[in-house]
Amino acid sequence: MTHVFPRHTKADLPVAVHGDGIYLVDSTGKRYLDGSGGAAVSCLGHSDAEVREAVRRQVDTLAFAHTSFLTSEPAEALADKLIEHAPKGLDRVYFVSGGSEAMEAALKLARQYFLEIGQPQRHHIIARRQSYHGNTLGVLATGGNMWRREPFAPLLIGTSHIAPCYAYRDQRGDETAEAYGLRAADELEAEIQRLGPDNVMAFVAEPVVGATLGAVPPTPGYFRRIREICDRHGVLLILDEVMCGMGRTGTLFACEQDGIAPDITAIAKGLGAGYQPIGAMLCTGAIYRAIEQGSGFFQHGHTYLGHPVATAAALAVLGKLTDGGLVARSQAMGEVLQSALEAAFGQHPNVGDIRGRGLFRGIELVADRETKDPFAPGHNVAARVKKAAFEAGLICYPMSGTVDGRHGDHVLLAPPFIIEEAQIDELVRKLGIALEAAT
Ligand code: PLP
Repeated sequence: MTHVFPRHTKADLPVAVHGDGIYLVDSTGKRYLDGSGGAAVSCLGHSDAEVREAVRRQVDTLAFAHTSFLTSEPAEALADKLIEHAPKGLDRVYFVSGGSEAMEAALKLARQYFLEIGQPQRHHIIARRQSYHGNTLGVLATGGNMWRREPFAPLLIGTSHIAPCYAYRDQRGDETAEAYGLRAADELEAEIQRLGPDNVMAFVAEPVVGATLGAVPPTPGYFRRIREICDRHGVLLILDEVMCGMGRTGTLFACEQDGIAPDITAIAKGLGAGYQPIGAMLCTGAIYRAIEQGSGFFQHGHTYLGHPVATAAALAVLGKLTDGGLVARSQAMGEVLQSALEAAFGQHPNVGDIRGRGLFRGIELVADRETKDPFAPGHNVAARVKKAAFEAGLICYPMSGTVDGRHGDHVLLAPPFIIEEAQIDELVRKLGIALEAAT
């Protein structure tokens, strides 16, 4: 008998009792290789001694101080270290408790910025179909995943959606990746013109799309064109790095690889690495100054902003990622994982694409790799892979969805950055068992 309200009310879940490096252990002693870090969270694995010690020390020193009254040493130190490593122009950090909160804060900051600088008409948000920005109502409206949005549609604010940058499906045979990316980016220009450039507040995108497409990186030049378009029209560029940030793609911020910097960005999952719930919104000095020199008050807040224990944990995590070399390891081991996946499944009849950056890799499952025809939605292939993998002792993150009448199934892999080559072999072997069982 349980009183927990689970996500899946019909599932009978094992009880996790222990974390051991890249493995989780349940109450029967079964070990699971955490091949997706939960949902791209556990970048350090489950038993990092330094982060656990940082949490213990902070609880013993100062567990909580409300940010209406006091700041705290770990929050100050974490903000300084994040800005030291952040893309050019980002200057201030606002700490929250997770990814949805960080994205909500980003949207509200964008709106308040335009009020403060005397452009109250700017309120339109443009995002991309097949994006996910969180589950609270504001950002659910921004995301483009219809399955997640549909039940709540009457409660959602209006948002425009343009196409994602999705070369596997949308690049034409007669164009280069670069030309396709520019064509995809130019949809933003057209949508801004349609809405009236002076009315548009922000364009929102994940640099590498995670939870709805399965680690889809942009084509070269796509985000540079997006940045130019935003600048031309005074539209803020909000990058959602909740899943792809914190070294997941092989650089601390995913957008570094696209040679651009956002006006506002959100990070979360890998920031606390699973040791504490924490997210953050980072913004430029210009946006911060508009608030500072205007009303002097960001009209937003949650009780647990800048929580001392969460920020202490994240400070220890960030130290391991940067000074400890784990971001570089994500890059290097990501290449090893990609090669192993290609060797094992490159010719698999139901694997259409293997892609990603760093230790953020996606596999697109198709009924026919030659025609790229997807599985029928009722086949539930991604869910079947998840189930078969779990039975084989592997956690991977499946995704299925239908957007614009187009169905897709993907499996996301995002293992801890401490993964060893032999463990990559184990991951790929178990995934092979699951694919055979599910396709
Ligand atoms: N943004 C992106 C890109 C995500 O992948 C997620 C979660 O998967 C979120 C936002 C929401 O984060 P959270 O679940 O921590 O609220």
